Amino acid sequence: MGRLCKRGRNWLQVYNGDGDVRECSWTSDGVIGSLIDYTIPELYHGEAAKKMRKRLMEQDYSKCVVDGCPYLMTGEICNIQTELGEIPEYPEELYLAFENDCNYRCMSCTVHNYLEGRTKEELEHNYDIIESRIRQALPYAKRIGANGLGELFTSKRILRLLSEWKPLAPPEECSVRLETNGSLFDKKHWEQIENLGQYNLEVAITVMSFDELTYQRLSGVQYPIRRIEDNLRFVKGLREKGIINMLEIATVVMADNFRTLPEFARRCIEEFGADYVRLRPYDNWGAQDEMEEFFTNIRNPKHPWYSEYKETMAHPYLAHPKVHDHSGGNDAYTRKSVPFELSDMKWRILTKILEESDKVMSSISEINNLVIYGMGNITHILVKEMNARNIPLLCIIDSYKESGCFEGVPVYNIKEVKGLVNNEISIIVMSLTGISDVYKNLNEYCIQGKVIPIWDIIDDVEISDRLKYINRL
Ligand code: SF4
Repeated sequence: MGRLCKRGRNWLQVYNGDGDVRECSWTSDGVIGSLIDYTIPELYHGEAAKKMRKRLMEQDYSKCVVDGCPYLMTGEICNIQTELGEIPEYPEELYLAFENDCNYRCMSCTVHNYLEGRTKEELEHNYDIIESRIRQALPYAKRIGANGLGELFTSKRILRLLSEWKPLAPPEECSVRLETNGSLFDKKHWEQIENLGQYNLEVAITVMSFDELTYQRLSGVQYPIRRIEDNLRFVKGLREKGIINMLEIATVVMADNFRTLPEFARRCIEEFGADYVRLRPYDNWGAQDEMEEFFTNIRNPKHPWYSEYKETMAHPYLAHPKVHDHSGGNDAYTRKSVPFELSDMKWRILTKILEESDKVMSSISEINNLVIYGMGNITHILVKEMNARNIPLLCIIDSYKESGCFEGVPVYNIKEVKGLVNNEISIIVMSLTGISDVYKNLNEYCIQGKVIPIWDIIDDVEISDRLKYINRL
């Protein structure tokens, strides 16, 4: 029997007020249904869950988001694989993150969107169903976690479930992972869930920065940093008493805070007793636009401060055995060359056609029965260069332009294309995105032939790799 990523087998998270459940938070096919409609065993043994497990068994990670998944990013995936074996009725690991309530407003986070447009009554109705179905499954879990999508100490229902957890397995076989921003982790709040101290307890606290202004800006709050520092000292006390068994302090590495990382790590370890300092790679969860994302994502080699970032990451303190860079030292997988990436690529293709016109035209002249799809700027330049060399072109097709003529070449709106229903033509497609839609469009109008994206003509590996990636080709 093959092996699969253990998240796909053991892990289940209830992650919003609609009761949606997922088998992994870093995949595009992780959502397996809702607790409003089904029980946990029904979802855990349902078709969507089986399908994802099958994919993982085949070592197919095409739906896993590399910039989100630390195992893929660091190449550690083999170390977290497990046998499929017999799947138990209930999952061993259950993560509770359905309240989505948070006292922070972090700039890349979308968690507050989950609550938008819902009345209190709707949410309470859903929460009642979700809570009752989680209660059925909780005794069977050996490992539970909260929160990850919202703040633990503002999540009243989750706190109640945690405080009442009575696992069937003996305490020494059970473990808990708590994730929090730490701003409310004081004695009074801790007492609500101090029963968790009997299990193997991990606590992960994410602090954006120890610099007060940076902390406030990145977290969207006005709390003084002293509040976090005091709470971290309280948590350190629990760690020293052995109530907490593993203390992780994390931050999200961004352009705004990377310069202070060595000092951040030193304070976490020496002042606050962290066992593990996690440097989390930044990811845009959808709250930031393209421009903000570009200037935040310091792991993008195109970022203007990238070299300084690499120098900072080479600081000796960041080689401390307790410091863990979850990017694996890798650059961002999704790289944007500039905020307006597609415009930039269009310019580069145009420049290539003009600067290396002999080479580009030589490639084009070898193509028989040529048609161009798309009447944009690149086509204008290309057709003029072809005409100057007497390279024949049957016609130009466009989905939006009216039929007519350009530089002596017939232009057809796709609905009016004539005489091209054969397999002998070659179609150079000028669109840089939406290529699969172009293929569908051509098929719909029975325009068949060899399709050649423009980037295959201009011989630039970087552009061609990037556009293939963008088009999922
Ligand atoms: S490989 Fe990573 S993203 Fe894919 S299922 Fe496992 S943990 Fe999730």
